[in-house]
Amino acid sequence: YGRRGGDMGEFRPLPPDTVIISSNENPLGPAGSALAAMMPAAKKGGRYDKEYMPATIQTISEQFGLPYGPGKTPFVRLYPGSGGPLDMALMSNISPDKPLVCGDPTYEQGPRAAATMKTKAIMVPLDKTTWKYDVKAMLAAHPSPGAYYIVNPNNPTGTITPREDILWLIQNKPAGSVVIVDEAYFHFSNQESVIDQVAAGKDVIVLRTFSKIYGMAGVRAGFAFGRPDLLAKFETVTASDRQLGSISLIAAAMAHASLTDKDLVPLRRKINRDTLDDTLSFLEKHNYKYIPGSQANMFMVDVNRPGREVQAAMLQEKVAIGRVWPALPTYVRVTVGTPVEMKAFQTAFLKVMNGPSQ
Ligand code: PLP
Repeated sequence: YGRRGGDMGEFRPLPPDTVIISSNENPLGPAGSALAAMMPAAKKGGRYDKEYMPATIQTISEQFGLPYGPGKTPFVRLYPGSGGPLDMALMSNISPDKPLVCGDPTYEQGPRAAATMKTKAIMVPLDKTTWKYDVKAMLAAHPSPGAYYIVNPNNPTGTITPREDILWLIQNKPAGSVVIVDEAYFHFSNQESVIDQVAAGKDVIVLRTFSKIYGMAGVRAGFAFGRPDLLAKFETVTASDRQLGSISLIAAAMAHASLTDKDLVPLRRKINRDTLDDTLSFLEKHNYKYIPGSQANMFMVDVNRPGREVQAAMLQEKVAIGRVWPALPTYVRVTVGTPVEMKAFQTAFLKVMNGPSQ
């Protein structure tokens, strides 16, 4: 459900007053600083961008101590969103005899890329107590996979995998495989990134996006961090990196303004945390079970019946919630919206779960 209807390009219109908490978008939209950067950039839009994209790559490189400058090959690339480079990171490292090892449940783009490359996605269940990735079981799953895919915080559970666990996997994985860490929801958490492992020259690719905390899902901007040789391998998938299309200068200007806005991340992290905590208290008060430990803008609630039924019934109440994963068929994923949107969620949820009143 939601604007994309599950498939790129498909647009299934929802009634205009529908509360949309289905796609882990940010209801706040772009920051004021990003909006202010838009018009000056647009005025320069008659020319190919020689300013905003390099400035954004320079800023992010400086923030993470990555080499950048004349004569240096960048360790980070800027794309229209992170989904494109995620595909390239996955597909340039897996092949029919080099499968993908991922978590379960996880963001479906991993398994989907494996299907495209005609290889297996070995789904390793998350630890059922902590809901973190079980890196030991992932390592034991195959002797020589092409890649391990870790989403941190995970989508759809919002749960985190401690940095030590990821470092352990990087340290112990077989030579020739890469660890792909998808940090799309990272800013909502209180974790420490593994981007430093990229600077340290490890077999790691990290993805980041402006679609989540920065509120720019429709604007399209995201990063891939990796050793230059790992980034260069992307070309084996697309023939040319440019096939993805270079980022618009407007998106680059908005990304740059967001990165240099010091207040944005801490403020939005707190706003999300407060609304998430409030919603989880509501679920506890009404004795609904949810997956604990979310450090993202989503949570999963157990609806004790096929999740799809509740998803459909909620839509009747004009609240579009997220989808269901095969590993957790009685759970639905819900995105954290505004406090007002979450009140609408609560009202609709009680109505749907308690059945029609007599
Ligand atoms: N990775 C994860 C875990 C996601 O949930 C998403 C989008 O929901 C993406 C990547 C891709 O997002 P985008 O292409 O907008 O950066």
